[in-house]
Amino acid sequence: MNSRAFPALVPDRPLPADPALHPTAPTPDTWRPGAATAARAGAHATDLARVADRVRAGERIDAEEALLLHEHGDLLLIGELADLCRRRHNPADVVTYIVDRNINPYNACVTDCGFCAFYAKPKSDKTWALSREEILDKVAETASIGGRQVLMQGGHHPTILSDWWCELIAEISSKYPGINCHVLSAPELDHFETVERRPLSEILRDLIAAGWGSLPGGGAEMLVERVRKIIAPRKTNTDKWLDVHREVHEAGLRSSATMMFGNVETAPERIEHFARLRELQDRTGGFTAFACWNTQPEGTPEEHLFPTRTSPSLYLRTQGVARIFLDNIQHMQTSYVTQGLKMAQISLRYGCDDFGGTMLEENVVSAAGCFNLETVSDIERVIRRGGYKPLQRNSWYGIADERYGGDAARFPSTREEAAFHAATGKGPYPLAAAPGPDRRNPTELELVADREAPSIDVQTPDRNKVNQPRTEEVAQ
Ligand code: SF4
Repeated sequence: MNSRAFPALVPDRPLPADPALHPTAPTPDTWRPGAATAARAGAHATDLARVADRVRAGERIDAEEALLLHEHGDLLLIGELADLCRRRHNPADVVTYIVDRNINPYNACVTDCGFCAFYAKPKSDKTWALSREEILDKVAETASIGGRQVLMQGGHHPTILSDWWCELIAEISSKYPGINCHVLSAPELDHFETVERRPLSEILRDLIAAGWGSLPGGGAEMLVERVRKIIAPRKTNTDKWLDVHREVHEAGLRSSATMMFGNVETAPERIEHFARLRELQDRTGGFTAFACWNTQPEGTPEEHLFPTRTSPSLYLRTQGVARIFLDNIQHMQTSYVTQGLKMAQISLRYGCDDFGGTMLEENVVSAAGCFNLETVSDIERVIRRGGYKPLQRNSWYGIADERYGGDAARFPSTREEAAFHAATGKGPYPLAAAPGPDRRNPTELELVADREAPSIDVQTPDRNKVNQPRTEEVAQ
């Protein structure tokens, strides 16, 4: 599939295909949505009404219809439809989050992505690597405050490979069984496969045996080759990114899906990205959630190539259409780290039902001048004021919160339960409709979620505690 799939809607202007041919700025997407009145009474009003009716009727819309909504639907219509879809997938008035920490063990990388402010070339004097003790100290600190996950990603290091990760994961899993290793990314796994010269299936087997619990969605950027060739020409291509996630799902692990937009892509290419994800999810059911954010260009090697941060309106429009189009991915995660708490709160009415991680530490987008980490109490306050009840979850979106009945109410609570969840074809189950004798009904859920936050809090991170510059993306 490519942009030509939407001939009537593709902007009538040349698209940059090769960065070498465009030594200055690649053409950013200059599209602007029409005014609400035009959407209701203009040339597209009839088609928009038809698409909206299809969404309201619970029908799957196609890529061309999604593009029509994205380009010509007014923001309030997109919000209304996204909220409707959110309630179909997640009927309870609950917004989840996970107490976690991002740890970036090393920053050396051979891949040189132009949008990345985190990495250093392997022979540069700016490289650094945490010792095993430093990493375990950070995990211990996360466990001590009730954390349930560490998200770890590094650069594409020339010599730190899968055996190093297996040892680390095994040690964390044995010392801190309550912490899930939500680690690596599809491009890192692809890098291991290339450098180690052995099949991905073997690498996955070893990592899983060590205790690996789930795969973050990092490195997706835009799953469109034209865009990847401009912003990350040496990184894993679209088909491989999807293939790695497929193999991970088939090996029994869940993963998340992401998108970084607002650089050189067009609106049809955003929809193409969604379509590739939906297609894979139809086959495997392995994605737990989707999150998107706009490129954070400050301080990146190719900062001059990228437009300044995109508008909040575009973020809501993109996230809302994602909720409508990705009808087979249960959860949508807002990105408060890049958008800020206020925009994250608004996004809860544009399809999002999850706040992502509390990120005791984050090292990626803060290298690009974006630093919106928040305390647990602030996150809960914003969720409540947005009209929802906050609950903590685990990596597989099972509820892990004493306000929801403690251990007995968690489901799925392990990677095996999560895999079963996907593989049976019976899930994903809406939170309030999950079957089983220990599931609670929505009324009980509302009652318990009315309580204050559990006795756990995370202080606003001290900038000085953050590693150094940063690694990959903000993907959960
Ligand atoms: S985004 Fe990841 S792969 Fe690309 S340069 Fe940064 S660390 Fe390396």
